Amino acid sequence: MFFHVLTLFPDMIMSGLDTSILKRAMERGIIRAQAVNIRDYTLDKHQKVDDYPYGGGAGMLMQAQPVYDCTMAVLSDIEKRREQDGLREAGKPTRVIYVTPQGKVFDQKMAEEFAKEEELIFLCGHYEGIDERVLEEVVTDYVSIGDYVLTGGELPAMVIIDAVSRLVPGVLNNDESAMTESFDQGLLEYPQYSRPGIWHDKEVPPILLSGDHKKVEEWRREQSILRTKERRPDLYEKWRNEHDRCQ
Ligand code: SAM
Repeated sequence: MFFHVLTLFPDMIMSGLDTSILKRAMERGIIRAQAVNIRDYTLDKHQKVDDYPYGGGAGMLMQAQPVYDCTMAVLSDIEKRREQDGLREAGKPTRVIYVTPQGKVFDQKMAEEFAKEEELIFLCGHYEGIDERVLEEVVTDYVSIGDYVLTGGELPAMVIIDAVSRLVPGVLNNDESAMTESFDQGLLEYPQYSRPGIWHDKEVPPILLSGDHKKVEEWRREQSILRTKERRPDLYEKWRNEHDRCQ
């Protein structure tokens, strides 16, 4: 999986991805990432990439030209590389994801869908956003990470890259498995405990020490259901409806 992040702040992306599990996955070549500086593509002699919005209003807007040329350059590199490598996906359109509060809200299902791609391009806005005309020409997906407004698209891009990377085979070890986590089967994960057995007078639930795997599984499932009902009634309702339908 190769992530291409188009941004005005490439250092933020590369330093954000350079730790822990993602760093290890990059060192092992399981995932690749590059941050491409949109400013490198401006034709403005003062390296400007933003201007006032027509019609007035607060703030500046990223201009169409540098965003367009940057996206085209990355798309063309991807295509050339695929042809050279004789990849079966040559010619397949690459998804260009504009991270924006105006997009569909990112969730685990979307992460699973993105994890099937071989390359993803993220476009990070800044200031008041990006000139609509270039978005119409290059963007395939509008994705938000939640109903709040951040200063730029770099953190949202990193959030999505992190969630997608964990689903790429080989990124997690067996003991970091993504198989039994929250949202797997539409439920939150059950509570978990580690050593010591007693901490602040609180005991680990005895069933977890019983060695009876079947009982442990049943207990965990029950706890998942209870926790989802309590903390995320919206998810619980959805799960219950689907569950009832399958019965
Ligand atoms: N004026 C825009 C609006 O009202 O929709 C908000 C612009 S925001 C200050 C600057 C950039 O941050 C956006 O172009 C987008 O790339 C990114 N951004 C901010 N909040 C986001 C969110 N919740 N999800 C994804 N991207 C976000």
